[in-house]
Amino acid sequence: MKTAIVIGAGIAGLAAAARLQSKGYQVQVFEHRPYAGGKLTQITVGNYRFDAGPSIFTMPHYVDEVFTECGKNPKDYFEYTMVDDICNYFWEDGTRLTSYADIEKFSNEVEKNLGVDAAAVRKMVEKNKFKFETVGNIFLRRSLHRLQSFTNWETVRAVLRIPRLQLFQSMNKVNSRLKHPKLVQLFNRFATYNGSNPFEASSILNLVGHLELGLGIAMPKGGMHDISQSVYKLAQDLGVKFHFGNKVDEILLNKNVANGVVVAGQTYKADLVVCNMDVHYAYEKLMPNAVKPKKVLEQPRSSSGLVFYWGIKRSFPELILHNALMSSDPKKEFECIFKDKTITDDPTIYINITSKSVEGDAPEGCENWFTMINVPHIEGDQNWDELIAKGRKSIIEKINRILNIDIEQYIEAEEIFEPRILQERTFSYQGSLYGISSNTRTGAFFRHSNFSRRVKQLYFCGGSVHPGGGIPVCLSSAKIVADIIPDAK
Ligand SMILES: Cc1cc2nc3c(=O)[nH]c(=O)nc-3n(C[C@H](O)[C@H](O)[C@H](O)COP(=O)(O)OP(=O)(O)OC[C@H]3O[C@@H](n4cnc5c(N)ncnc54)[C@H](O)[C@@H]3O)c2cc1C
Repeated sequence: MKTAIVIGAGIAGLAAAARLQSKGYQVQVFEHRPYAGGKLTQITVGNYRFDAGPSIFTMPHYVDEVFTECGKNPKDYFEYTMVDDICNYFWEDGTRLTSYADIEKFSNEVEKNLGVDAAAVRKMVEKNKFKFETVGNIFLRRSLHRLQSFTNWETVRAVLRIPRLQLFQSMNKVNSRLKHPKLVQLFNRFATYNGSNPFEASSILNLVGHLELGLGIAMPKGGMHDISQSVYKLAQDLGVKFHFGNKVDEILLNKNVANGVVVAGQTYKADLVVCNMDVHYAYEKLMPNAVKPKKVLEQPRSSSGLVFYWGIKRSFPELILHNALMSSDPKKEFECIFKDKTITDDPTIYINITSKSVEGDAPEGCENWFTMINVPHIEGDQNWDELIAKGRKSIIEKINRILNIDIEQYIEAEEIFEPRILQERTFSYQGSLYGISSNTRTGAFFRHSNFSRRVKQLYFCGGSVHPGGGIPVCLSSAKIVADIIPDAK
């Protein structure tokens, strides 16, 4: 029987393992942490449960697809509902706005609250849909590093449409056509969904807005953690063998063919190796003597996150599952993150409250606040203890101003997540959330490939390689890898 080894049980590693097992390989997964899921995990603080990492769940059909393509019924493993009221937005001047899955309703809300013609909003949403429908499949479903990916009608159509894709304009430039600064800010925020800067990233990234406003946001029945656990269960049912608390120290190379790994001095052989670990560290730590794709690895990293998991001993009817308290100076906010590598005094605060949807996540009458701001990745001589203290103070002051409250008196449990912890726990290089950023006009197209050009039988999946970070995108990388690898049967 042919064998495969997967390094890392992040969501992409789990999906790749399940897919390869169902293609006839005997798969073993080595995971350094004691659990499956990587960043997509949960924590408990006092009487509160939190999804520790991702909270915005787009394209749930990509999860379903892992089950169907492995010959199983997704409903036997995973349940979710679509969210109607997507996000409550708050600004310091008292402006409030809800984005809805129903675009008619959303555009009317924008017209009512911001005075922007509803038709202009619908036009922008349509444009983003056009971008997604033109390049989505090419970018998300195939390797960009194989000629056969481009020899099809879809690619020809995309090439013909290049002038309409606004590839060489920034997101902010294109979104500025919406005229109202608050609405521009709302649409620019989608850049942060892959850790990028809307003032630098190509407007092609506006297609992310379509994932949320066009295709909609989902919520798993028991919280985001259900996603990784259901795929983990699938992999187990198919026969994948897991080794938790096992850090891979080396990828074995025999004349430029990967044929196993070394874990705590023990050798495990396999016909192929799939690496779900951050590709930067994979080269540095597991293959120090291999030739490195320097240009790819040196691309600027994505932003990171500072999260306060707060158990709040009261409830807030004005807040829903997803909430954003918007910065009054978004340009400065992004300059701080990406240029100065620091934290602004007035960050955009995202508050995710799963207890609004998942029973038991907080005690009766209380709420579990996942309170997050975007921060730079680790670089230079940052003093993270100082930055965290500053971030916490700014967050509390802003929440107090906007919700007209003294929030600190209601925080009865707290845990902090920050770039150093992310780097240490999941070996994410420089503590970046999404691998490299898309802060150049073409950056999104030049991530590391899903296979090694120099080492045979070595493949890569996960947020640090093509197509990039975020749950659905990581699941795509697992699909691309499994599609490239021939059946073992
Ligand atoms: C705070 C936060 C908020 C986020 N918000 C969202 C969101 O709202 N929506 C969204 O879609 N995405 C979001 N993301 C991003 C998303 O979580 C990631 O893109 C995705 O989960 C990454 O999955 P992955 O497969 O690349 O692996 P990872 O989750 O990075 O896991 C890699 C695994 O490999 C293991 N590993 C590494 N090295 C070794 C080794 N040498 N040996 C053995 N094991 C090893 C690690 O321990 C880890 O478990 C967020 C992330 C964070 C941290």
